[in-house]
Amino acid sequence: MSSNKTYDLCIIGSGPGGYVAAIRAAQLGMTVLIVEKEPRLGGVCTLWGCIPTKALLHTADLLEEARHGAEVGVSAREVRLDMPAAMKHKEKIVRQSSNGVAYLMKKNRVDVAAGFGRLAGPGRVSVTGADGAETIYQVKNVILATGSTPRSLPGMDIDDRTVLSSTSMLELTEVPKSLVVIGSGAVGVEFASMHSRFGAKVTIIEVLPRIVPVEDEEISRELAASFKRQGIAIYPETRVERITRGEGGAELLARSAGDKTETFRAEKVLMAVGRKPLSDGIGLEAMGVATDKGYVKVDATMRTNVPGVYAIGDVIPTQALAHLASAEGVLAVEHMAGKPTQPINYDQIPGCTYCSPEIGSIGLTEAKARERGYDVVVGKFPFSAVGKARILNQASGFVKIVAEKKYDEVLGVHIIGPAATELIAEAAAAMKLEATSEELVKTIHAHPTLSEAIHEAAEAVQGHAIHI
Ligand SMILES: Cc1cc2nc3c(=O)[nH]c(=O)nc-3n(C[C@H](O)[C@H](O)[C@H](O)COP(=O)(O)OP(=O)(O)OC[C@H]3O[C@@H](n4cnc5c(N)ncnc54)[C@H](O)[C@@H]3O)c2cc1C
Repeated sequence: MSSNKTYDLCIIGSGPGGYVAAIRAAQLGMTVLIVEKEPRLGGVCTLWGCIPTKALLHTADLLEEARHGAEVGVSAREVRLDMPAAMKHKEKIVRQSSNGVAYLMKKNRVDVAAGFGRLAGPGRVSVTGADGAETIYQVKNVILATGSTPRSLPGMDIDDRTVLSSTSMLELTEVPKSLVVIGSGAVGVEFASMHSRFGAKVTIIEVLPRIVPVEDEEISRELAASFKRQGIAIYPETRVERITRGEGGAELLARSAGDKTETFRAEKVLMAVGRKPLSDGIGLEAMGVATDKGYVKVDATMRTNVPGVYAIGDVIPTQALAHLASAEGVLAVEHMAGKPTQPINYDQIPGCTYCSPEIGSIGLTEAKARERGYDVVVGKFPFSAVGKARILNQASGFVKIVAEKKYDEVLGVHIIGPAATELIAEAAAAMKLEATSEELVKTIHAHPTLSEAIHEAAEAVQGHAIHI
């Protein structure tokens, strides 16, 4: 079947890249069609990523706070996890968020086509519905926003029963007695932190020398120390070679540094070794769209090598983050509409990890800044010296600012501790405005707030932190 309407823009995929691009395009006066193969809108972020994980992590945060409530004068008789209620809360938030996306599509007059979308030649997109019926749409431009899916290790399949992906982890209705997490990026440590606080015995296995390996080294050290205090076992420089499934769980054979063989047993295993782009079967080869290891290649305005075809989000080789997918979507659409655009500065993307303690970071790590040849000055301030952190009974962690000597520009901010994922917004605004550490010092921060740690870390860059 062929639709007789021609759209200015067709977006394949309704995640935070696709749906945000659709709204911005509609605001700019384009007629827009969004194609989604899943029954609900919102993509990984809404259905199986950012939103459901943070809902369950909020339950873990409250549980932990309640356990320590007596220390600040709140005694609860029986503090326990009610997993069915936690799941109900998570599902309610996911439903509200996905319905919110559907509402926004209606409000902005974006048409939604349910089915699998594919490039079907210049100016044509095919959508195959669940019933197998194919519709061809005429379109002037296309944005590929198909996202990504969990990766596994060679020869070690995810079966969603014993060896789980982040998606099947979110469906667990009971807390496993023991959990091995393979991989310690944001997804791995968030689930490790969640299930450890829920009561599981958690072990993290990481092939690299440190956990959260993309973060500043001092952040990794602080998180590892905190996790160990919380009873999470960490095996860095350890490579899982085999998983054998048996009654009641799995046995993992791994090789650690020094060629030592280690055996681990756990009721459940989470495979958190990263994600791969969803780019198979969407007509890339036939249209000649250039790819690299499955990722769609784009220029600084999100254009592929094929005129009228753009790509954004997890399907392109930039950081896999929801807010970045959205920013790329807006950039692509504004470029398409002939608006003046600025390329994205990939050195200034905030990254948040919602484990306990939280991590919020942006910009260059100290090591990266040195690698790039900057004359680096570092200022650090601990939350133990911040009144508000002590009031909250969460006084561990620190703020670290990496600046350069010549112009004093802030190159990176790395926070581990209470509300780090909220505090990082100040650093993002400061870096966008090319702030110096002196300007952060001259910015008056309210008292008592956690943001004083950023102020004092900036003072530390200048060599005169006050409260330490
Ligand atoms: C467990 C977990 C936690 C995360 N937490 C965070 C977080 O806290 N913060 C953060 O910034 N990021 C987080 N992320 C990453 C974030 O979810 C992704 O970066 C983001 O969803 C990418 O957005 P996207 O629009 O590119 O793709 P997606 O969100 O993956 O959406 C792509 C959509 O396209 C659809 N699709 C694919 N192929 C087709 C096709 N051929 N036809 C029709 N539809 C198709 C898919 O069904 C999907 O709905 C998390 C990820 C995971 C897995």
